[in-house]
Amino acid sequence: MFSVLASRAKTSKANLTGSWRSTQKPKFLKKDCINCGLCKFVCPEGCIEGIEKNAYDTDLDYCKGCGLCAYICPKKDIEMVSND
Ligand code: SF4
Ligand code: SF4
Repeated sequence: MFSVLASRAKTSKANLTGSWRSTQKPKFLKKDCINCGLCKFVCPEGCIEGIEKNAYDTDLDYCKGCGLCAYICPKKDIEMVSND
């Protein structure tokens, strides 16, 4: 009964959390990234990938637009932009 509630991020294409994203989405500028990994660590959807400087990005199929990644980035290398 609780399997849906307990499902992990990005475990099912049928659960595309990006479909109810807020009005904003993150834009990874890929200029000043220091490969700290904090954006990936805090993302509640686990939808940020990256292992090298300036190579992090999100999977918009799952991103909910919460803005945590942009907030935590020490280099301000992620901007929240309009979904439009
Ligand atoms: S805005 Fe950033 S932290 Fe929030 S879900 Fe999207 S990629 Fe993850
Ligand atoms: S938080 Fe910012 S600096 Fe750190 S890995 Fe993510 S984009 Fe790069």
